Amino acid sequence: MNISAYKGVVVFIEQREGQVNKVSLELLGKGRELADALHETLIAVLIGHNMHDACQELIHYGADEVIYAEDEAFHVYMTEPYTKALSTIIQDRKPEIVLVGATAIGRDLAPRVSARIHTGLTADCTSLEIDEEKHLLMTRPAFGGNILATIICPDYRPQMSTVRPGVMQKLERDMTRTGAITSYPITINPEDMTYKILEVVKEKKEKVNIEDANVLVSGGRGIGNAENFEILKDLASQLKGQVSASRAVVDAGWIHRDHQVGQTGKTVRPSLYFACGISGAIQHLAGMEESDFIVAINKDASAPIFEVADVGIVGDVHKIVPELIHALQVKQE
Ligand code: FAD
Repeated sequence: MNISAYKGVVVFIEQREGQVNKVSLELLGKGRELADALHETLIAVLIGHNMHDACQELIHYGADEVIYAEDEAFHVYMTEPYTKALSTIIQDRKPEIVLVGATAIGRDLAPRVSARIHTGLTADCTSLEIDEEKHLLMTRPAFGGNILATIICPDYRPQMSTVRPGVMQKLERDMTRTGAITSYPITINPEDMTYKILEVVKEKKEKVNIEDANVLVSGGRGIGNAENFEILKDLASQLKGQVSASRAVVDAGWIHRDHQVGQTGKTVRPSLYFACGISGAIQHLAGMEESDFIVAINKDASAPIFEVADVGIVGDVHKIVPELIHALQVKQE
């Protein structure tokens, strides 16, 4: 393989119902940094239908070029047409690096594409850097989160990685940025689709997006039972935030999995994170330690959560949380 023929950083832009997924903007932020380190260009690859307007936005968020593959077949995500489109573009443009969000769509698409184009894929990365030899260092938690494994792909190109949502930071939208928008026709034949989507039925549930919350009030096993989440909801609503949780309480069925923070849950970076009755296991910390300000409430002064906390309160969560709510109400009056 002629590795030197591969240049540039590609970010796959995920969209659902014509809306660009936030993780794709985060990856443009990271992709910009990697492309600058390599002195190469950052290319956003958008596969969709009726999404011309989104192309310019991707330039505002850091792309030098947007490759837009338009077809009715791309309206709703389907494995085969998307694999064909992304593989074709990669084989044609030969990027050095390809980044994909580790979402349900990205986890389906990236392995297919990497197998088709015969390169490696590091899944679920939490850090990406360029080393002195210009290899992409792809780091991800391994062995239950007890170690961080850094993986390189020295012999094949592109170097492909899926990246956890919420870990990288998107750039500020810059309206002065300019770039090229390239239409890329891809022909999807009936034989490219072995199944048809007849209808998309959405699960009816309360929309929970803890990754976007500015304030999170998180409950762990120390809160005692499912009913006690109500008091955490009260505190969260006082602070215009949301509730989240450790895996122990999700596994206990006290709250839906959508609220779980951590290695097997979501990575969050709120301005303010309350850890209430959470011990601070490494797998939990992996999802929240980048929060701007952490307040931990735990009755055990030696709980590891205090090591990452900006403010630690040693005491019973059932006494402290009502007092906090009371203090906030008094302040508002
Ligand atoms: P515990 O560890 O039981 O801690 C409860 C805490 O509450 C204790 O510190 C106790 O002192 C305190 N407490 C008790 N009563 C009170 C009270 N009245 N007032 C104040 N404090 C009180 N965990 C995650 O959270 N997210 C993940 O994504 C995740 N992924 C994992 C992946 C793998 C592969 C593995 C092996 C584990 C994972 N875990 C994850 C589980 C993790 O290891 C811990 O078991 C879990 O985080 C513990 O949850 P907890 O802190 O709520 O419970």
